[in-house]
Amino acid sequence: MLDKRKFYINGEWVDPITQNDLYVLNPATEKPIAVVSLGTAEDIDRAVTAARKAFASYSRTSVEERLALLEKLLAIYKRRYDEMADTITAELGAPKTMSREQQADVGVGHLQGYIDALKNLKLREKLPNGDTLLREPIGVCGLITPWNWPVNQIALKVVPVLATGCTCVLKPSEFTPLNAMLYAEMIHEAGFPAGVFNLVNGDGIHAGAALSKHKDIDMMSFTGSTRAGIAVSKDAADTVKRVTLELGGKSPNIVFADADIEERVTASILECFNNSGQSCDAPTRMLVERSVYDKVVEIARRVGREARVGDPTREGSHIGPLVSHIQYERVQALIEAGVAEGAILLAGGPGKPEGFETGYFVKPTIFAAVNNTMRIAREEVFGPVLSIIPFDTEEEAIEIANDTNYGLAAYVQTGDPERAQRVAARLRAGMVHINGGPHRYGSPFGGYKQSGNGREGGMFGLEDFLEVKTVHLPDAA
Ligand code: NAD
Repeated sequence: MLDKRKFYINGEWVDPITQNDLYVLNPATEKPIAVVSLGTAEDIDRAVTAARKAFASYSRTSVEERLALLEKLLAIYKRRYDEMADTITAELGAPKTMSREQQADVGVGHLQGYIDALKNLKLREKLPNGDTLLREPIGVCGLITPWNWPVNQIALKVVPVLATGCTCVLKPSEFTPLNAMLYAEMIHEAGFPAGVFNLVNGDGIHAGAALSKHKDIDMMSFTGSTRAGIAVSKDAADTVKRVTLELGGKSPNIVFADADIEERVTASILECFNNSGQSCDAPTRMLVERSVYDKVVEIARRVGREARVGDPTREGSHIGPLVSHIQYERVQALIEAGVAEGAILLAGGPGKPEGFETGYFVKPTIFAAVNNTMRIAREEVFGPVLSIIPFDTEEEAIEIANDTNYGLAAYVQTGDPERAQRVAARLRAGMVHINGGPHRYGSPFGGYKQSGNGREGGMFGLEDFLEVKTVHLPDAA
């Protein structure tokens, strides 16, 4: 078992102030793979002090200097790519192929996307009224990340900090701290000055809250549940920090009768199950035009029953376990709620898949005849669970799609390009995918309503970490 009890503060690995062990479990075996420490407010304070000190000089480095460091980080990340993928497989349970092709890949994609954006960022410009506008790093940033796409969230927050001349303290999820520690090693090797990046492990209510409340933090960037996002906002309010939030989702996927039904429905189900359903933007509510409803139900029954769970250390397209026992219990409770509320089970259901009694595996599950008032249609399940809801008209589809507290992503499947644009314009969501159009690196990622505020990735992601200063000169004589 790995001993990973130290924190990365001021350019070195240091012991926690108070010993407080936490075992990191492999979700497929339920066995511990490492021991880490849960940090306290004192550890957070030590890291914030280092970041504050480093800000004085790092904020004054040139874009060229920072680009050179980011290019080095990219080269190191590429060299240690397989190590990152294997770490995510071990602590999250993401299957080997998925870890290599998706989970680790985002670390390259987002870093490159930010490098490209930084090259085009205007730090100084003249306004039409003659005033000068400057963009400056906002300061010391507190970063809190979840476990589901761990290095994705880390790259989306840490890289813009490094790119804009800010400094930071990262508190990654206590369920997946190892990939974050590997990322810290890479930042160290790239040669960023001491104190620019600091990492303290810990849970939300102690280390996370201490970060949100700290008087020397200028901005909090948070990704996780809406519940914790609200807590961070409240904790940050007394010191008037900027707070950006990337929260949950319950994304609608509107399937019109004129779509390529077989291909689009199959791909949509697999997308919902990807990462064991643990994606904030997963298409979890499939709204289906009634004239093709029976056909879609048949496809869903077949695809759902063919979906396989399996050992994450094996190559293949199977899905892995959920991350933790808590998550397993939450997902089971919602599957049971779906059955109790009268939805029709097409595949899966409560309990563990046969042969997978050890590990937090769940059955890939599809419900039909769901209506939008049921818990499985309203609450984020965060497991491989799809709800199918029929509709009669385009207007009704839009109404059901928008009838949610969330607004992260939305999906439209149609053979009519005009309808695709018309419907996309009316969906209250930060990202609309048409006929499988993927999210591309460098485009803003983020949501409306209770899915959060702010945008991550590319130019919009850099802007979140910048202050705007206006410089006024007297009118020319
Ligand atoms: P979570 O909110 O329980 O934890 C996320 C992080 O917040 C962890 O680091 C945790 O320690 C910390 N935290 C928890 N309570 C806190 C508090 N009171 N103060 C400060 N920090 C606190 O969420 P999770 O279970 O790790 O992740 C799943 C959630 O994240 C889902 O709701 C998912 O939709 C969301 N998510 C959103 C996005 C997005 O970009 N919108 C991306 C990934 C995940």
